[in-house]
Amino acid sequence: MTSRALFHPDFQPLPYWWEAWRPEPGQVEDLPRRTRVAIIGAGYAGLSAALELARTGIETVVLEAGLPGGGASTRNGGAVSGGVNVGKSFTGGRSRASGERRAALLGGAAEAFGLVETLIGREAIACCWEKRGRFVGAFTPAHYRDLEVRLASLNADAAADARMLPRSRQREEIASDYYYGGMVIARAGKLHPALYFKGLLDACRRHGVPIVAEAAVRRIRHQPVMPADRAWQLGTVRGTIEAAEVVVATNGYTGDITPKLKARLVPIASHIIATEELPDDLARSLIPNGRTISDTPRVLTYYRMSPDARRVIFGGRARFTAVDAMVSAPILHRFMTDRFPELRDARVTHAWTGNVAFTFDALPHMGQEEGLHYCLGCNGSGIAMMSYLGWQTARKIAGAANCPSAFEQDELPGFPVYRGDPWFLPALGGWFRFRDALDRRRAQAEGGKA
Ligand SMILES: Cc1cc2nc3c(=O)[nH]c(=O)nc-3n(C[C@H](O)[C@H](O)[C@H](O)COP(=O)(O)OP(=O)(O)OC[C@H]3O[C@@H](n4cnc5c(N)ncnc54)[C@H](O)[C@@H]3O)c2cc1C
Repeated sequence: MTSRALFHPDFQPLPYWWEAWRPEPGQVEDLPRRTRVAIIGAGYAGLSAALELARTGIETVVLEAGLPGGGASTRNGGAVSGGVNVGKSFTGGRSRASGERRAALLGGAAEAFGLVETLIGREAIACCWEKRGRFVGAFTPAHYRDLEVRLASLNADAAADARMLPRSRQREEIASDYYYGGMVIARAGKLHPALYFKGLLDACRRHGVPIVAEAAVRRIRHQPVMPADRAWQLGTVRGTIEAAEVVVATNGYTGDITPKLKARLVPIASHIIATEELPDDLARSLIPNGRTISDTPRVLTYYRMSPDARRVIFGGRARFTAVDAMVSAPILHRFMTDRFPELRDARVTHAWTGNVAFTFDALPHMGQEEGLHYCLGCNGSGIAMMSYLGWQTARKIAGAANCPSAFEQDELPGFPVYRGDPWFLPALGGWFRFRDALDRRRAQAEGGKA
């Protein structure tokens, strides 16, 4: 298919999810002068924190630079998991956490998955939530063995209800011979990310939380001489606001107002395409059990059927930086047809991009930096995790947490000389593509053609 023919005549460079709900200006136009807690960033983390604070009667205001939900939280793939991605780094390695520490982290991730279910149920969020599980495809036989090694701990510590599926039975899960078998995780689900976000937004509004759109925070000033309830002054493009506590929930969009936090996060772009509606038989055959799919190369992909099961929503790191849809869509289409050759003629109706934040220890974090609370570092998988860290931060502020979260125990690590400008990403992406191709060629030489 030529690059031009690949795009449907109705193609839009926007998230497919925005057909159902798109970020819109909030109803609250004026910035309150004072609040107990000011939250910077209206994504899952910021809203989940705001909702929990409001439920405990703590006055809260959310400040958003653009439109609420305009960050990653209405742009993602909608795959929700407990622990499988915890500790997975952008270099393809894994966190060094082991033993009790690892068990605590996986336990937290399992709790995060439970929190999403609780929020959807309690707040009656209609977001096409389906607990259909996930299949993680092994890119090489060595990756299959790595998954096997992780299986017991995922089941014991993250209650993942996971099992290995050898390559000979792979077609039970996916109409593709691309992988060398993989892992089926029963405790995983999928949702409509924009409708989940809308549900959190509606819940915040029901609890009276002002969510101020187009109010980029430009300056954060600590005021030690003021009373504690006015300890912080935030300068925004809409005026100033004072607060007793501040939560930074800016993840892959963390900027210069918090330079120390910015210097510990690597923002990486992730890209997605949606196909046109497919013929019924084809659509039904691709992922017969309705699971979400992810895989194990360094330049990974993730995909699923749309909530109406008619289209493929296919994501991956077509590039590590934000690029035009005209660049990312053909690359993702090629990745998709590598896995499903029968989608060769499926045209693309939507293509979009968003930022995720990676950390140098491959773990999400919450904590305090110079008095500011933060919940940051989704490492590419944050529907459950960032909802959870926002909720945990709120409970900490409310004094309701019995013990520190597992994600609060270590400092957000930095890297010598890195100050938050990821100039090296294009080169790194090229190096990873090369290494993946090498691994794959070696695997094919050793273990037969996939
Ligand atoms: C393409 C893509 C696919 C993904 N797929 C999945 C998936 O399938 N499953 C999964 O679990 N996760 C996935 N993720 C990750 C997930 O979307 C994120 O982890 C999650 O949305 C992060 O939520 P957040 O609230 O921390 O940040 P965001 O939703 O990114 O919100 C941060 C907000 O902070 C605001 N902000 C920044 N600076 C300021 C400032 N100075 N003043 C005011 N506001 C500011 C930004 O405008 C932004 O709206 C994906 C992400 C992307 C981009």
